[in-house]
Amino acid sequence: MKSENEKYCVNCGEVIDAKAEICPKCGVRQPMAYNDTENFQSKPVKHTDDRWLITLLLCVFLGELGVHRFYVGKIGTGILMLITLGGCGIWWLIDLIFIVTNQFTDDEGQILHS
Ligand SMILES: [Zn+2]
Repeated sequence: MKSENEKYCVNCGEVIDAKAEICPKCGVRQPMAYNDTENFQSKPVKHTDDRWLITLLLCVFLGELGVHRFYVGKIGTGILMLITLGGCGIWWLIDLIFIVTNQFTDDEGQILHS
């Protein structure tokens, strides 16, 4: 079994020091972002990341209908955007810039990160 400051080599499975960059046994470089194989196999849950990408795609393709605002829970402004067709494209463009620059927020004021 490995202890706290050890990890498995991603290539050969040998128990090596957690801080090791290269496996002493097989010489394969280890991914530094992950401490063990469990984390290596399952991606870390980043809820806002998924939402950011979906919001961006919705804004790009359906932005003038306010769909990205509906998606993040901004129903009121979403309807307003739908009626005005994204403020004749200007509001849509502003929202798109906000999303791309990580300044777009959901209905709880939480910023969507890329
Ligand atoms: Zn190895």
